[in-house]
Amino acid sequence: MQTLTPVTLRSRPSLDEHELALVNARLETASPSEIVAWAHDRFGARLAMTASFADTTLIDIATSVAPDVEVIFLDTGFHFAETLNAVRRAMERYALNLTVLRPPADAADVWEHGSDACCAARKVDLLDQHLTGRVDAWLSGVRRADSPERADAAIVSIDRRGLVKVNPMANMTDDEYERYIAERDVIVNTLQYDGYASIGCWPCTEPSTDGRAGRWGGTKTECGLHL
Ligand code: SF4
Repeated sequence: MQTLTPVTLRSRPSLDEHELALVNARLETASPSEIVAWAHDRFGARLAMTASFADTTLIDIATSVAPDVEVIFLDTGFHFAETLNAVRRAMERYALNLTVLRPPADAADVWEHGSDACCAARKVDLLDQHLTGRVDAWLSGVRRADSPERADAAIVSIDRRGLVKVNPMANMTDDEYERYIAERDVIVNTLQYDGYASIGCWPCTEPSTDGRAGRWGGTKTECGLHL
């Protein structure tokens, strides 16, 4: 599978550094809904979002503002049944404009090629190829409270693909996040009730209440989507 580079994906970001700084300063105190509204106003139908279905908080926020926003789920082939059940429940509750991306049959897997190659083939390359030329911006559920590696996550940035990446929940604290889930009765992947604070593929996820510490046996904390 070809690995796409920023050059092949997009040659120029749609926000220059000056505008990026102004937007981040303005949105730092905005609510997640206001941040999604900014992105939707700015990029319209060329805005998409990704969802891991650990819960549907970002889906709930984003579809309240932009009901037709494309929701991308990367079906790696290694998801827990509980995660696939959360997708089904979300489909019933929200009229999702859902796109499910699946890797080719010969994609590298974690058993033979290791986690970096497997994540590249089953997540990163899939998303790169899908986003190429289709969108100008995407929403992710990254929060600064997720892990030390995410502590400095910007609300708006230019990603390595040259796309505008928007993290509407970047500055939500754990308390605010949990309050939103309770108040909106957001769909929660039932694995969270079994001690999985972060949920990915079953071969690479252990129960842990310490942020993303249960992912990849402690060897890494990111699959590459957010790097
Ligand atoms: S999280 Fe594990 S199983 Fe899933 S794509 Fe990455 S290495 Fe493969």
